[in-house]
Amino acid sequence: MKDSRVARMHHPRRGAKRGTVIELKSRREIGIMREAGRLVALAHQKVREFLKPGLKTIEIDLMIRDFVLENKGTLLFFNYQGFPAHSCISINEEVVHGIPSEERILNDGDIVSVDIGVGKDGFCGDSAWTYGVGSINQEAQDLLTHCEAALFKGIEQMVVGNRISDISRAIQDYSEDLGYGVVKKFVGHGIGRRMHEAPQVPNYCDKKSFLQEDPVLQEGMVLAVEPMLNVGTEDVETLSDKWTVITKDKKLSAHFEHTIAVTSDGPQVLTVT
Ligand code: MG
Ligand code: MG
Repeated sequence: MKDSRVARMHHPRRGAKRGTVIELKSRREIGIMREAGRLVALAHQKVREFLKPGLKTIEIDLMIRDFVLENKGTLLFFNYQGFPAHSCISINEEVVHGIPSEERILNDGDIVSVDIGVGKDGFCGDSAWTYGVGSINQEAQDLLTHCEAALFKGIEQMVVGNRISDISRAIQDYSEDLGYGVVKKFVGHGIGRRMHEAPQVPNYCDKKSFLQEDPVLQEGMVLAVEPMLNVGTEDVETLSDKWTVITKDKKLSAHFEHTIAVTSDGPQVLTVT
């Protein structure tokens, strides 16, 4: 695994190594994953209703924690490689892995990315969404619209017989044609009994990424696809808290993620209500 593609919450050093066998899920298992995904989606619905200027990001995190626990789910991010909260909450130029805090307060016009991972009945669901707080400007609105659209461009490619690189290429082509920076340092992943499984799902397609392998999509594969788009360049850096990733040019970044199953009827998004 190339170093540039090693990163914690999105890139475990264990489990999702290249070359690891891809675990296919039965229809019954996908049914259980749909319940885990539904809980993630319901938590996002709560976040959407809850968000307003003046909120501390820790308040959002604790709301997510309470909601997931009330619904008999487990919080996959808590203590994951030492992560100190239940969700990742990343504001404006923060890309991923923002740590919820007493000190971070949402302002009118901010965009906020919320990433939630939940376990239920032995399976995982993982979804991120970027929300506008109050009224956001056109540049921010366009970023959200196009990052969500990029995710669905990738999902459309999740049909039996296509390859992982078809997902990657669709996301990259759509996003770069619009002038966005596609973050390459973090990638999507297989998901199932563990949050991070094989294969990796890059949001870009170059020879190096797929030199060794480019798996063919098969019925029963479940993937978390998660483009991160920047208004400026793709370059990112990690803050001294060792978690928060920001854009180097401090321009806005968005992150949209769903957990999706490849089925004989086409892609089925599991992280929906
Ligand atoms: Mg996630
Ligand atoms: Mg993920």
